[in-house]
Amino acid sequence: MRLLLVEDERKVASFIARALRENAYAVDIAESGEKALELGTDVPYDAILLDVRLPGLSGVEVCRELRQQGVEAPILMLTARGLVEQRVEGLDAGADDYLTKPFVLAELLARVRALVRRGLHSGNAKLRYADLELERHRRRATRGKEVIPLTSKEFALLELFLLRAPEFVTRSEIVEHVWDRHFDSETNLVEVYVNRLRQKIDQNRSAKLIHTVRGVGYRLGTPE
Ligand code: CA
Repeated sequence: MRLLLVEDERKVASFIARALRENAYAVDIAESGEKALELGTDVPYDAILLDVRLPGLSGVEVCRELRQQGVEAPILMLTARGLVEQRVEGLDAGADDYLTKPFVLAELLARVRALVRRGLHSGNAKLRYADLELERHRRRATRGKEVIPLTSKEFALLELFLLRAPEFVTRSEIVEHVWDRHFDSETNLVEVYVNRLRQKIDQNRSAKLIHTVRGVGYRLGTPE
């Protein structure tokens, strides 16, 4: 799951982003409405968190413009307390929900979960390949009848593999979807995480599902 957070106050943005990342989301931050339009129309986000009060283009204007450009990602507006007209304006501009500042993180996370859930096409809620299944809402993976406990990063990685299966996923796609723009691509974290996931999914099983595609990346599927 990849989110766009639009917030001009750096401290607030990094605080929210950290909480979201701890909950398995990859997060890009836009510090202005202009940047939000650029990223929002370029990247297929699973949800957009949009602060109303921005320098330059306001959050409401950004929301309206994203919708006019055909962006369908669910949008959560972050509004100031007591400003009812802001909420109405935001919803009129095409936002799906709003949250009043200041908010507690648990509430933000609950709203994001609900938003992402609504944004998922119902056919996408469960991803399946062979006897491997991932329930995206519940963040639960099973192989056969066995539940496979996954960390947040492993979940995001498996989700990407299943979305593409049986085609391959490149290393840079993994970096982009599972981590975010600030990832140091020189590290071998991708390999480390894929190997951990592989142990959980394939160890002690005759039918291996995760395969290395030399020089390209990885694929989830039956052996060739
Ligand atoms: Ca702001």
